[in-house]
Amino acid sequence: MPELPEVESIKRSLSSNIVGQKLENYKIYDHRTNRYNTKKPTIKESLSGISRKGKLLIFDFEHYSIIFHLGMSGRIQVNDKKNKHTRARFYFDKDTVNFDDIRRFGFINIIKAELKIDYLNKIGPDVLEISTKQSRIIIDKSKKSKSLIKDFILNQKYMSGIGNIYANEILFASRIHPETKVNALSSNNWKDFFNNTKKIMRLAIKNNGTTLSDMTYFLPYGEFGSNQNFLKIYSKTNCFNCEHIIDKIYINQRATYFCRKCQKLKN
Ligand SMILES: [Zn+2]
Repeated sequence: MPELPEVESIKRSLSSNIVGQKLENYKIYDHRTNRYNTKKPTIKESLSGISRKGKLLIFDFEHYSIIFHLGMSGRIQVNDKKNKHTRARFYFDKDTVNFDDIRRFGFINIIKAELKIDYLNKIGPDVLEISTKQSRIIIDKSKKSKSLIKDFILNQKYMSGIGNIYANEILFASRIHPETKVNALSSNNWKDFFNNTKKIMRLAIKNNGTTLSDMTYFLPYGEFGSNQNFLKIYSKTNCFNCEHIIDKIYINQRATYFCRKCQKLKN
């Protein structure tokens, strides 16, 4: 569930408070959350920064990087009590950071700082940082792909940061039917796609992310995001542009909304 704007909002909220504090101890309670770690290194260092790529949140120390993937329901909470969904706790000298995850699709991966660049290179460029050259590489890959556009943009190996809610919003804004074969997109489609992606992600960050009625996502100090008030297609019944009834289908088990008048299928 947490996508680029939610993870970026979490990063910004934490950065002003936690960066500079010294990590004194940490505990990972859950074996699934811990599934990619083979060791538990001692890290008694100051947090030098918090970074993000795509949906990954990274605590940067001099010798280690702690990588969080929030999965479907992961949450970072500061100075909250341990509860039955708390999968890990990080004890800094002033504050305690909890990683809570109801469904346990998320994970924490602790790596040596020198391996961070290689680790992050395994996923595609962050959609807010895509250069012209990188966009050309993505388009080249799309020509050889048999995927549907919606699956292609959700695949983090091509580009990172887009999840299901924003995929729906971006395709609607770009007037692209989600079942369009990605190799059939025109260069104008791609131009619209990249422009709308940046626009929609920036607006969502400004709004501190999307808190849906399931209340899965909120910020580290308990505040809600407000971008749910700016969604134009996700979970809506009528088109924002033309008022036609919105179709809901499932692509790879993910809820997909589109307006058949505004997003014509051209395959
Ligand atoms: Zn419409």
